[in-house]
Amino acid sequence: MIKYGKVFYVKTFLDNSLKDLTIYVDDHGYIGKVSVGKESVEFGCELVDLTGGNLVTLPGFIDLHVHLRDFNYSYKETLESGSLAAVSSGYVLVGDMPNTSPYIDSVDLLMKRVELARIKSYVDYGVYCGIPKRLEDVDDLLKSKQLYVGFKIYPEDLKDKLDVIGYILKKYEGLVVVHSELPEYALRGSTRELPLRYLDRPSWNELTVASLIRDMNRAAKIHITHSAHPSTPLRCRDLGFTVDTTPYYFMLSSEDVRDCWCKVNPPINDLISKSLIFTNLINGFYDAVVSDHAPHYYEEKLYDWRLCPSGFADIEVSSRIMITMFVKGFMSHHLLIKYLCEGPAKVLGVDDRYGKLAPGYRASFTILDLSRGGIAGIKYSKARKSGLDGFRYVGEVVKTVVGGEVVYDSGEVIGKPKVVVIGG
Ligand SMILES: [Zn+2]
Repeated sequence: MIKYGKVFYVKTFLDNSLKDLTIYVDDHGYIGKVSVGKESVEFGCELVDLTGGNLVTLPGFIDLHVHLRDFNYSYKETLESGSLAAVSSGYVLVGDMPNTSPYIDSVDLLMKRVELARIKSYVDYGVYCGIPKRLEDVDDLLKSKQLYVGFKIYPEDLKDKLDVIGYILKKYEGLVVVHSELPEYALRGSTRELPLRYLDRPSWNELTVASLIRDMNRAAKIHITHSAHPSTPLRCRDLGFTVDTTPYYFMLSSEDVRDCWCKVNPPINDLISKSLIFTNLINGFYDAVVSDHAPHYYEEKLYDWRLCPSGFADIEVSSRIMITMFVKGFMSHHLLIKYLCEGPAKVLGVDDRYGKLAPGYRASFTILDLSRGGIAGIKYSKARKSGLDGFRYVGEVVKTVVGGEVVYDSGEVIGKPKVVVIGG
């Protein structure tokens, strides 16, 4: 009989009702065995009981699109501060974008990044590779797939690197995440006021870029990220692409965009789009919901809106918005788990290890207290403020367990897990 050093009692959704489970964790931080009910455990075993009060345990949340900056952008965010923000919001695994300084598009930089993440991150970690400038660099990258979770295409890549993109899509069978804006719209300056930027960068760009990629010879799995157009999910379904959106597209409309904290790309759309994206969301049309946590130095966000950098530093707010949607009945627990656990695990190709409370899966859990709530704000991110601050949420993340370690507990980070770096 296998001996387990650590055992968790949790209360979770099983067959549409809340049931107690006993979860046995192996020495590597993976679930060894799951039993229904509270089994008595062997003497000497460390037991963590998470079944009290209004606590509910879900599979750990996954955010497949964040920017943890670091390197030369450490003044904006670091792998440490960004991952602390993530773990305090229930996330156990993040997919980090390559638009750092220096830009991550080589085996050397991927190795450096992954090493840094192993030391500094508080959550499991995967990084995307940027599109390299030269075609000949792609072959090197394709020999080192274990270092990254996929490639990321930015609008400017569609202008200068179409040949490299074509080569990657043909040769690479993994994930390619697309920021779907056409360069001719994304790279031009805005001629209107901040709330109307969406007219200069129309969200139907997404549909055009999706068609452009549809017509390319492909082995890769295409994922459209931070979708801002309400027709994109159905279009993606037709094309066999996956798609995510972010909370600010269904929480805010252009009427809420008053300062740089709400400047983002693609821009926040009109009220009709916001309502339709919300409808898509509660109907389950997306594969995942991401934060697109994109922190900047506080003072940079105080510049004139034409000069200030784009992005919401919202990972500490996003999961709380999603939990509120569930507690208030806008989405079932199935849909919450789809958007934050199973869906992103599937997109990242790690759904055999993440997104479920089952044997063989990483012992990473998000524990909610459904009776608690508060006003959302930033505690750990260096950005200090996000355009979604002030949201009154219901349902609080009270604990986060990463690989069998209780890392976050009652408002404090109390441990540092041995993180797993995922790659393709
Ligand atoms: Zn992003």
